Amino acid sequence: MVEIPPYVRQVLEQLEAAGHEAWCVGGCVRDSLLGRVPGDWDVATAALPEETMALSGALPTGLKHGTVTIRTEGGPVEATTFRMDGAYRDHRRPDTVSFTRSLEEDLRRRDFTVNAMAVNLAGELRDPFGGRADLQAGLLRCVGDPDQRFQEDALRILRCLRFLAELGFAVHPDTAAALRRKRGLLREIAVERIWAEFRKLLQGPFAAETLRAFPEAAGVFWPELLDMVGLDQRNRHHCYDVWEHSLHALAAVPAEDDLLRCAALLHDVGKPSCFTVDQAGVGHFYGHPKESARLAESMLRRLKCPTEFRERAVRLVLWHDRDIPRTDKGLRRALLALGEPDLRRLLALKRADNLAQAPEFWDRQKEIDLGEAILNRLLEEGACFSLKQLEIRGSDLLDLGLSGPAVGRTLNALLEAVVDGELENRRDTLLARARELAAGQGC
Ligand code: ATP
Ligand code: MG
Repeated sequence: MVEIPPYVRQVLEQLEAAGHEAWCVGGCVRDSLLGRVPGDWDVATAALPEETMALSGALPTGLKHGTVTIRTEGGPVEATTFRMDGAYRDHRRPDTVSFTRSLEEDLRRRDFTVNAMAVNLAGELRDPFGGRADLQAGLLRCVGDPDQRFQEDALRILRCLRFLAELGFAVHPDTAAALRRKRGLLREIAVERIWAEFRKLLQGPFAAETLRAFPEAAGVFWPELLDMVGLDQRNRHHCYDVWEHSLHALAAVPAEDDLLRCAALLHDVGKPSCFTVDQAGVGHFYGHPKESARLAESMLRRLKCPTEFRERAVRLVLWHDRDIPRTDKGLRRALLALGEPDLRRLLALKRADNLAQAPEFWDRQKEIDLGEAILNRLLEEGACFSLKQLEIRGSDLLDLGLSGPAVGRTLNALLEAVVDGELENRRDTLLARARELAAGQGC
């Protein structure tokens, strides 16, 4: 059953009242039939864009492609005129699009059968490509000839992987074979679009299974991943090769946290270039966290992922092999360096890294438990680990005669002293120490 929410019904009603066919299409139909809550509702209509523009609340957001956004009380709804795509020459976008009055033509241009269904106000389902049966069978399959569809628009290759990771479906063998054959076309796609899909892939509950099945597809933009595949670690700590270990770590961190998932996938990406085997035949990876961080940095830059995300992911990779401190001072310092959210991520990454090793070493979880317990206590006690918690402000230091960069330097020195337990976070204590420091600087 597809339950169309009132604000979307209202748009369909307006279009129908004006004599135009109007349908909910794509992801919202797929998700509803799966019993999931759709993220957004897309409307497809026989009305031409200028006819849709006659609706109240209409905004011309993508007229060239036939898209009009209708503002409603329940939120914006995109209504797009039924479209046929012309020839594709650049593997990215059709050279031309033309409008059609046929819903079926519009569904034919869509990527996968499960995304090519439509429902109208009367509850009628249009499903010319067997999307419903594929949904029931848990099968992802291109509409039409998969080679041609990936050739037209190579982003569909990554969308295919993303839907597999989100839905846990099997992929039809013809679609899988075409995906492998055409994967090189991903080079033609803007890296920002790759990153947007890849992030969603990472957040899928079946991300590890998907990457395990198609490493060579991600290897088109991240060839570094392929060096991990099949690399036997020759070390009793490990029961998996580097790639399997990384996928197990990825699967062991929460799906919704893309930053953590990215760090888990890349935490050992430097291992292949650090691999040595000693005289006893045991494998070692000296210096791999630094090398992994260096590679992760370059891989994330290549996809132009946002700077803050990149810096935080790289820092987690760099820190992943350090022992979690088990003293108040050590944990306060880690809090100072990482902040609470990323310190919690580091704990989760270390847990996952350990659980992706041979089970006889899983007792190291206890060390992480201990660090986490101290962290929780410190936070409950209101431990000070950031400038904004410090009981003294920059303005206090200005009053003492400090100015310019000396203000920040002094605040940081005070914070470090508090974090290290040398000073109490009390205003009078801090002011007294600030006076000493100021005197030392000739104020
Ligand atoms: P999500 O839940 O992530 O929004 P979705 O299926 O709605 O999934 P969108 O990117 O919102 O994905 O696209 C809406 C619909 O447009 C898809 O369901 C599909 O029918 C069609 N579509 C999107 N991108 C493509 C593409 N590259 N090629 C063909 N059809 C596409
Ligand atoms: Mg959508």
